[in-house]
Amino acid sequence: MAKRIVNVGGIKMGDGSVSIQSMTNTKTEDIDGTLSQICALAKAGCHIVRCSVPDEKSAIALKEIVENSPVPIIADIHFSHKLAIMSADAGVSKIRINPGNIGGADKAKYLADYLKERGIALRIGVNGGSLDERHKSKPLAVAMKDSALEYVSVLEKCNFYDTVISAKSSDVKVMINAYRLLDKACYYPLHLGVTEAGLYHTGIVKSSIGIGSLLCDGIGDTVRVSLSDDPVKEVEAAKDILKACGKYGEPYCEIIACPTCARTNIEVKSLAEQVEKMCEDVRKPLKVAVMGCVVNGIGESQGANLGVAGGKDKSAIFVDGSYVETVDNKDILTTLKKYITEYESK
Ligand code: SF4
Repeated sequence: MAKRIVNVGGIKMGDGSVSIQSMTNTKTEDIDGTLSQICALAKAGCHIVRCSVPDEKSAIALKEIVENSPVPIIADIHFSHKLAIMSADAGVSKIRINPGNIGGADKAKYLADYLKERGIALRIGVNGGSLDERHKSKPLAVAMKDSALEYVSVLEKCNFYDTVISAKSSDVKVMINAYRLLDKACYYPLHLGVTEAGLYHTGIVKSSIGIGSLLCDGIGDTVRVSLSDDPVKEVEAAKDILKACGKYGEPYCEIIACPTCARTNIEVKSLAEQVEKMCEDVRKPLKVAVMGCVVNGIGESQGANLGVAGGKDKSAIFVDGSYVETVDNKDILTTLKKYITEYESK
């Protein structure tokens, strides 16, 4: 169903785009440290940054953080609607609450009225590990969906509709099912994530499956990859997931490279790395194939804007699917560079 569009500090959720979020892991009261991390995240391509607000000092620090941040800030609140009110006063663009621990429907209603007056969005963040007792007898994905919708209906009774919903679980299958149920049941934008996904490699695999499956089905409006690591790596991983699912909103260069085998004639890995580096600033849709031999190389190169199929001493170059020339292997990189420069200037 068509989505409601929710505006989070100028970033639209529900309009078909998919925004990237991350979260600072500095102490929020450390204003300089937090702003420095927010700037690093924004530089890496993060559209919105969330900061935890565990206490009043953090809520007070938010004002200066919001004023100096290059991207919209979300306040992450647990247990205290008072901190949510303080964060709203600090000028954040969205508040994230877990309805299971905010202190009941009355407090959620009070908060909704307060945010509505100020045009601030709200994320209902239901978490598989902290559900209301009343839902616990149901299958987990159903319980998460029902819990989120219950709070959505409280907000709707206050005529509050600038709501984004998340239903995160550390179990990838539960998370996928919960979001699929929510996508069918409501028209609010969905914030996707696998919670507590873990260390770098495991976390990326879990997030790619969970977030990626949903994005490929057309579900999801904003994403956060959770890693027990530098949050900049979360943003890099989120960008790669969006690219793989065809949801990355900007033109970029995609490198296809073969896995190499006994037929490989050229240094595929180092060549692909050099091409990737050479193309990192390309702002046009460009697909470059670096293939180790002619067996599969010709087919893949023909499907790319630019391709090389490695031979023993000389390699074949393809442009827009057609063979154009054969070059000495030592000249592959400079030849690719020449064609990329020509392509960019078209
Ligand atoms: S493209 Fe050629 S070298 Fe590369 S994996 Fe396939 S067969 Fe092997």
